[in-house]
Amino acid sequence: MMNLSPATPGLTANSPLFRTKSFINGAWVDALSAETFTVTNPATGEVIASVADLGQADVRAAIEAAHVAWPAYRDLTAKERSALLRNWFTLILEHKEELATLMTMECGKVLTETRGEVAYGASFIEWFAEEAKRIYGDVIPANTNDKRLVVIKQSIGVVAAITPWNFPLAMITRKAGPALAAGSPVIVKPPSETPLTALAMTYLAEKAGFPPGVFNTVTTSKNAEIGLELCENSKVRKLSFTGSTATGKLLMRQCAANLTKVSLELGGNAPFIVFDDADIDAAVTGAMASKFRNSGQTCVCVNRLYVHDAVYDEFVRKFSDAVTALRVGNGLDSTNQQGPLINEKGLSKVKHHLEDALAKGARIRVGGQALDGLFFQPTVLIDVTDEMIITREEVFGPVAPIARFTSEAEVIQLANNTPYGLAAYFYSKDVSRCWRVAEALEYGMVGINEGLVSTEVAPFGGIKESGMGREGSKYGMDYYLEIKYLCFGGIS
Ligand code: NAP
Repeated sequence: MMNLSPATPGLTANSPLFRTKSFINGAWVDALSAETFTVTNPATGEVIASVADLGQADVRAAIEAAHVAWPAYRDLTAKERSALLRNWFTLILEHKEELATLMTMECGKVLTETRGEVAYGASFIEWFAEEAKRIYGDVIPANTNDKRLVVIKQSIGVVAAITPWNFPLAMITRKAGPALAAGSPVIVKPPSETPLTALAMTYLAEKAGFPPGVFNTVTTSKNAEIGLELCENSKVRKLSFTGSTATGKLLMRQCAANLTKVSLELGGNAPFIVFDDADIDAAVTGAMASKFRNSGQTCVCVNRLYVHDAVYDEFVRKFSDAVTALRVGNGLDSTNQQGPLINEKGLSKVKHHLEDALAKGARIRVGGQALDGLFFQPTVLIDVTDEMIITREEVFGPVAPIARFTSEAEVIQLANNTPYGLAAYFYSKDVSRCWRVAEALEYGMVGINEGLVSTEVAPFGGIKESGMGREGSKYGMDYYLEIKYLCFGGIS
């Protein structure tokens, strides 16, 4: 079942990318229970698919298949694994429009952004296809003359990847790319909101030629049951998770049972600081790009803006003008720039944050109203203070709260006053300040005169309660490898 209006660009109802079964050991399967769950388009409320709803026994079969596939897959040469990844990369780009359309339909993100996500997501597969050939070890100068000391790096084993709805495609490739490059089979557990993109990507992985059992996707609405199995089954050696901090903590506790290795990409609370010496127009452009991506629903979205007293009025005026001009509507209309929120829970959170801020003295400068369905007006809030929930919790919506500051020391203290540490941004033309502030901010990533920092060539990840581990870059492979030390004795 798929509801496609004649206006649906890039996708036909009988596209082979439109899949509703899970993929285990090289076969498309229903749940053993035959249960399904529905997927809804957040822009229209229409049900667009019924997808296999797997349970614990199904997932156990996927783990077993991956475990069996592991030895032969890790024994492929690096060049052979690289070629498989390269095939997948090419296929993803060839199906860019279909993937982008599917993503827009299930997560609401506008087409310009989903097209960008296809390219961004594919870039991790290209990057790790290249990195697969560079998994080098070391030779260590020995402590005695009759020994030779060598370090090799080997595939960690079966990897479970649990991913969120806000990047239905790229959060899969950031995990599967390095795992597959390193020689590890993967079990992807996509979110129940956006399983269709994951299944389309799985179809392309099948076409790319990964052997049965090497790439598995388990769709489910029973996240707790499946999560427990993926954490506690001793055949899973690594869990890579992107999602909320609360779920990340739970999964880490569950993984403690077998000391399963974990990488966690969790929530953020990004500050965006505009100093009095900043290029204000550039700061407005950066704030718009970061705050309103995916209607404010990304982990690196600006969560709170701090603007120096001397440039506050100018920044607020220019930023408000830019926000007022944003076009809101169904993302399949490529003239729209802001889509809906993902679900009622997301919408309620935005409303709650706004009500709390208004009750504590904030004022609405732009927007502030819920629209039809899950849409919300892009909003600018001024006179914001640190007592408001909106500055302490992830907003995950199109509301930009702005506060004033007067000194560098004060704003660094405000910016760091959070348990999160994912991304931070600031604008200044003073090079000394740029170094000082960048070093003082307790975050894994800092944008300096830049609002968009994500790329496959740089390490993505957070500190504090924003997680552990890094994705992409030369560092990203390390989390899917074990280091083995070989000590050759008796050398004469
Ligand atoms: P979430 O509720 O934690 O869900 C993320 C994934 O975990 C989904 O697949 C979800 O499945 C699954 N899940 C939920 N509870 C589970 C459990 N008990 N056991 C196993 N799996 C479970 O997060 P979300 O609200 O969808 O995603 C938004 C969050 O992700 C935000 O906090 C955002 O900042 C964060 N995020 C972080 C990054 C990063 O790189 N740091 C990137 C993107 C998003 P269901 O969909 O079936 O519930």
